[in-house]
Amino acid sequence: MQNTKYVFVTGGVSSSLGKGIIAASLAKLLQSSGFSVTIQKLDPYINIDPGTLNPYEHGECFVTEDGAETDLDLGHYERFLNKPTSQANNVTTGRIYQTVINKERRGDYLGKTVQIIPHITDEIKSRVKLLGETGNYDIVITEIGGTVGDIESLPYIEAVRQLKWDLGANNTLVIHLTLIPYLAAAKELKTKPTQHSVKELMQSGLSPDILVCRTEHHINDSIKRKLALFCNVEQEAIIESIDAKTIYDVPNLMLSEGLDRVVLHKLDLIATNTPKLEAWNDFLHKFNNPKKTVEIGLIGKYVELQDAYKSILESLGQAGAQNEVKVNIHPIHSEELTKTQVSASLKNLNGIIVAPGFGDRGIEGKIEAVQYARENKIPFLGICLGMQMAVIEFARNVLKLEKANSTEMNINTPYPVIDIMNEQKKITDKGGTMRLGAWQCKINKDSKVFNIYGSEFISERHRHRYEFNNDYLEQLNNAGLKTTGMNPETGLVEIIEIPDHPWFIGVQYHPEYKSTVLNPHPLFVDFIKAALENK
Ligand code: GLN
Repeated sequence: MQNTKYVFVTGGVSSSLGKGIIAASLAKLLQSSGFSVTIQKLDPYINIDPGTLNPYEHGECFVTEDGAETDLDLGHYERFLNKPTSQANNVTTGRIYQTVINKERRGDYLGKTVQIIPHITDEIKSRVKLLGETGNYDIVITEIGGTVGDIESLPYIEAVRQLKWDLGANNTLVIHLTLIPYLAAAKELKTKPTQHSVKELMQSGLSPDILVCRTEHHINDSIKRKLALFCNVEQEAIIESIDAKTIYDVPNLMLSEGLDRVVLHKLDLIATNTPKLEAWNDFLHKFNNPKKTVEIGLIGKYVELQDAYKSILESLGQAGAQNEVKVNIHPIHSEELTKTQVSASLKNLNGIIVAPGFGDRGIEGKIEAVQYARENKIPFLGICLGMQMAVIEFARNVLKLEKANSTEMNINTPYPVIDIMNEQKKITDKGGTMRLGAWQCKINKDSKVFNIYGSEFISERHRHRYEFNNDYLEQLNNAGLKTTGMNPETGLVEIIEIPDHPWFIGVQYHPEYKSTVLNPHPLFVDFIKAALENK
């Protein structure tokens, strides 16, 4: 059996230091040195998954092939590693407790008092090890959400402490990501917060093997010496992580700091080759040296929060690099788009995306944006709710079905062109009950999407309850809104397009979940190409 090695990434001093990016960058380096690697995120909140969380709270909910609603860091893992993740890659406290409580009810612990130690910690440990064993990985990198010192994180830190003990020093290691703040008034980088954070970790019986130090200014040797001495970490294991222009620079920064070498050395692993990053660097070169720019409007209702549309933003960046153009994204709040000023807001755009979403807030603005894109022949991509809005717009303004709507927004609409899926009608629980994960779609051969994908059968990831209402299929097709992709088993409409428009496509699925650095999604790539041509 495989001797899987386990790397844990904890965070200290502050949240939002980018543990996910450090984990993904390290994984990228190890993967490109010949190891099979996966990354797991342990989230210390009580929700079973982030599926029920408002994007304002938690950013985007990332959906895996197997239909898990997960933390957005899994999106980074997939984009960096070009490998799908699954439910096993994201575990929350809610899920851990639910499993333990179900076992208790089944009688699995009969006679015993069920406690955080050992029952909760054992469940955490088994989730970590199971991923390594079932996936046959050389290395599992597990990111512990939150910041050391949080009450919620304690069982996770304890589980890591025990795993280090169980599996032995050369099979596990802890990377602590920390912040070295710069005091402008004193013109000095300060190590004290890091010292405190390591102390906090040590109070839980865990000492870091490697410190990755986020900083705005270079860390000199004397600071490294000081950190090494006071934090009990070898000096070569103090890794600077300077602010990067883009997250895609971080693997190279970590390579030049030697993070992968220190990790391999500590885990007693010998790489077959030095990291092969040619394809990655080729992408970076294009990303950093665009020949032109395009202006893309992203119409949504969570636009104040960057993280809410993370995968769409990254997909656009990747598609831009592929086309050697810089994509300037203009987030536009759909609630602000009214008939009178829609043109003022959208007239300088070369392409328009209407974002996914739930509920009726801001949908009239989305419909205005669709109409503007359709009538002014601006390349348009509607994603999930965005596709549904495109159908509603067409029904209202072309078919003249006044007050056409989705039953999600108006249950009494006279023309429910978007309606709840049959199998959704009896479902009352909100969590984990949508149409989720990868589903097949058969594409019509005489369509734009067929040329874009270059194949008749595709598989894409879903997250929705409502669908195109096939009662209106003929009427809409006859009027020029073509349904060009269908689920072959259920007949659910997956793709719509308007052939009488330079580029107008709506998809019921989420292409953004499958776009990676080495495999930018063809729909986004072609959309950016069309936007460029529309300039
Ligand atoms: N609210 C819509 C539905 O549930 C769209 C969901 C989405 O955009 N992800 O069908």
